[in-house]
Order: sequence, then structure tokens, then C-alpha cells
Amino acid sequence: MKINILINDGLSNAGKQKLLDYNFHIIDQNVKQNELIEFINKNNISVVLVRSATQIKKDIIDACSSLKLIGRGGVGMDNIDVKYAQSKKIDVINTPSASSQSVAELVFSHLFSMARYTFHSNRTMPLEGETAFKKLKKTYSNGTELRNKTIGIIGFGRIGTEVAKIAIGIGMNVLFFDPFIKTKEIELVFFNRKKIVIELKCEKLEKIITSSDVITVHIPKQKKALIGKKELNKMKKGVFLINTSRGGIINEEDLIDALNNQQVHSAGLDVFENEPKPSIKILMQDHISLSPHIGASTIEAQERIGIELAEQINNKFNGKN
Ligand code: NAD
Repeated sequence: MKINILINDGLSNAGKQKLLDYNFHIIDQNVKQNELIEFINKNNISVVLVRSATQIKKDIIDACSSLKLIGRGGVGMDNIDVKYAQSKKIDVINTPSASSQSVAELVFSHLFSMARYTFHSNRTMPLEGETAFKKLKKTYSNGTELRNKTIGIIGFGRIGTEVAKIAIGIGMNVLFFDPFIKTKEIELVFFNRKKIVIELKCEKLEKIITSSDVITVHIPKQKKALIGKKELNKMKKGVFLINTSRGGIINEEDLIDALNNQQVHSAGLDVFENEPKPSIKILMQDHISLSPHIGASTIEAQERIGIELAEQINNKFNGKN
């Protein structure tokens, strides 16, 4: 009998195809949260695949004895009672590396855009480009290059490391802080397959804060903000700040103050304290390059996520190929 897999928050075509190739039966349907228990039981679902929208908590785990595996396409598992599921012998898997490159590239999407004000000129050109071209040209004519600038990376795991590679590639000076990593070898692989390895060593957080032209954070969700008023005031005046990790790691109120008094030049935010309803003050601040939590959401990352999940599910049920 085929194993039934419910894909509740979508999966890439490549992932779905792999599951079919491995002879699983897939149900690609978004079942409402309050109908999940009934659906899983009625359809004898062994595997439920989610992203961040569907919650798989104790109530579902207790009520659905057919469940053998919960798969999260992505990194954060805030929406799953992981420990409780494991205590009930239900495996929980995710795809932590699949989106690192995408998030790192989004960091530079924000950074290049802030350095040359394009995030801002894209707002003003449709309104004033025709009537006040010269004024706008003047407004945006003191952009800055990134080459030879210092980027401070806080959190040097999967994404922080990918950020370092891009930064090195464009000639930036790279510093990192991570309490759990002393040194790390970064391998850059070029289009012609040539490689170089660069070893970086952990700096003090204080050094990152005080001497970076750009600061980007890549750490897990924190109980309290890592960057608040005190840290912002110690930064170089006119620093660029980027948060693509989790809302709240940079205190939003303090960030707004620091942007208003130009201590921070501009900020790139993909994540917010109050998702999915970010504060209007943050959304309306003039010097923030904004994106709606799309760090992992590229075609390539979604494909990798789907394929990685399918491989892991196959390993569990059919053994390694
Ligand atoms: P990771 O676990 O590989 O790396 C995190 C690193 O942070 C670790 O090396 C850890 O030692 C370090 N760390 C922990 N606490 C720290 C602290 N207080 N100061 C400095 N370093 C600290 O994680 P990752 O895959 O690189 O992901 C980083 C963050 O990005 C996570 O919060 C993740 O949820 C987020 N993320 C966001 C998106 C998005 O769509 N924007 C997508 C994927 C991941």
C-alpha cells in the first residue's frame, strides 16, 4: 500500500515529482488548520509537509496516530512541537541549508539598493521623475561603493558564511562574530571551478559594532533584541544595517530613532517584530529598504527544499538509494 503524504503549504514541482518517482501517494491540498485532524485521520496520512503557515502542535500529534513524519520546508520550526512529536516517535525533518544562498543574495539586494538609493528612487521616480529629474539626480548622487568597505556579520552559520563569500567576491573587508565559532575556512568556488580558501577568525562583538560600515545579523530568534539603542549609538555614523534573520533582533523603535537622527544611514529589513502585520512606523520610515520575509523564497531554493524533503522521506520509508 502506498504511503500517503499531505502537502499542506505547497511544494515545488521538482519535489512533488521526486515523491511520485519514489512511489508515494501525494495529496497537494491546503487543508484548513481546524480541519486537519479529521483530514489526516480520514486519509490515513503518514507524512505531513508544511512551511510556516500550518501549525503541527500537540493537539494534532495526539489525535493522529497515523502520523510518522512531519516535514518543514525551510528552517524555523516555531510552528511544530518538535520535541513532543519526537517523544511520540514521529520524525521531524527540515531543510536548513537549502535557502542559505537565497537569503545571502537578498542581503546584497538590500545592500546594493541602499548604497545607491535605488530602493528610494524607485518610490520617487514614478511620482516626480518627469517633473523634477534634476532634483532627484542631486538627491541620489552621493551613493557609495561597497568595495573596500567593512561588513560585520553577526552569526556565522550557514547564511552568515554565504554572505561572507559574496562580500569577499566584491572586495569587502569581512569581520564576523559568533560565540560558538573561533575560526572558519571559507571556500570560494568560481565559475571556472578555481577555488580559494580564506580563513576568518571571530572578532569581538564590540569590534563588529564599532568598526563596520555594514552590519548584517544571521542568528536565531532571541528573547531580547541583540541590537538596541546602546549598540546603535556605538556604531559608525552612517552605517548600513540589515536584518534577514528574525524580527526583533534589532529593536524597531530604537532603529527608527537611529534612522531619524542619521546615526544609521539606512536599513534593509526582510523580517519584522510583528509579522504578518509589521508596525506602520517601520513601513513608513523613509530610509528602510523593505521586503516581506522572502529570504528563502526563490525558485532555486524552493526547488532544493522540495528535492531535499523528498530525498529525506524516501530515506526514511524506503531506505537510502
Ligand atoms: P545557523 O544555525 O546555520 O547559524 C546561526 C549562527 O548564529 C550559529 O553559528 C550560532 O552559533 C550563531 N549565534 C547564535 N546566537 C548568537 C548570538 N547571540 N550572537 C552571534 N551569533 C549567534 O542558521 P542560518 O541557517 O544561518 O539562519 C540564520 C537566521 O536566518 C535564522 O534566524 C533563520 O531563522 C533565518 N532565516 C531567515 C530566512 C528568511 O526568509 N528571511 C530564511 C532562512 C533563515
